[in-house]
Amino acid sequence: MFDPDLLADPRAVVIFTGAGMSAESGVPTFRDRMTGLWAHTDPMEIATPTAFRRQPQRVWDWHVHLAESIRAARPNAGHLAIADLERRGVKVTVITQNIDSLHQRAGSQNVVELHGNLLRLKSFVDEDAAFAMKRAPVICPVCGGYADPDECDRYADRSDLAAIELRTGPVPHCPCCGALLRPDIVWFGEMLDPEVIEAAWDAVEDCELLIAVGASLEVEPAASLPWRALGRGAQVIEINPTPTGLAEYCHASFAATAVDTLPGLLDLIASGQTIRTPQA
Ligand code: NAD
Repeated sequence: MFDPDLLADPRAVVIFTGAGMSAESGVPTFRDRMTGLWAHTDPMEIATPTAFRRQPQRVWDWHVHLAESIRAARPNAGHLAIADLERRGVKVTVITQNIDSLHQRAGSQNVVELHGNLLRLKSFVDEDAAFAMKRAPVICPVCGGYADPDECDRYADRSDLAAIELRTGPVPHCPCCGALLRPDIVWFGEMLDPEVIEAAWDAVEDCELLIAVGASLEVEPAASLPWRALGRGAQVIEINPTPTGLAEYCHASFAATAVDTLPGLLDLIASGQTIRTPQA
């Protein structure tokens, strides 16, 4: 199964990351569950549009707790090694399911955030309410949500919105149209931004090597990306202490953590050496 001639010095590399990538930075994976007050709250029940419609304050508070662990986290040696690979002249695209900005904070320039970014806000567009409205919705020039023209503050601008943060307190409103604000992430049951998923597919179609790190590969459509790379003949490596179904089919599988594996592996790639794995 293992190909000892694994590509060295690849032209284009995709690093595909899931929550395990940030586990050693102190951000819990959903499998690990959150701690303290929210330890028994199922993310699949609270990170949804329905939950926000019913209990916006509770959903906001849960995200504030997650944001606190993300703000306290620092990029780990794996994040830094990925950014270093790019600095050393390799064409690198990071495709991440993470919403924690740790790749950008490590210095990666080319990051596709499949599931958005927790520390950015946008308006909550309640499609049900919009359909029930008697008149056509007006798009708010500040938040892009559905505005009520009677409520709009025409002096508010995007910088007023950008100044609002995901912090403890009442759920904030758009300074222009008054719509409730929510984190700019993809909640369970929501579609991914088509432009973002297209950018991810383009990078996968172009790559010669894809390294999947810390992703359980259970969340679609992201989970299909490593399989697509494999199907079109790119080299694929998985790094995960609990290997997924991909491990059996890809070119190399490291049953180890991101921090233990990425710095050494990416240094070999950047210096143009053939990759040797434990199976070699
Ligand atoms: P997941 O929680 O379903 O799975 C995490 C995977 O990481 C597991 O396969 C686990 O074996 C592996 N893992 C654990 N520790 C590791 C380590 N030190 N090094 C390498 N791998 C390790 O995560 P998922 O597959 O990314 O999907 C869940 C969703 O949760 C994602 O869509 C993401 O948006 C969201 N999420 C994001 C963050 C974050 O931004 N840091 C944190 C939690 C959840």
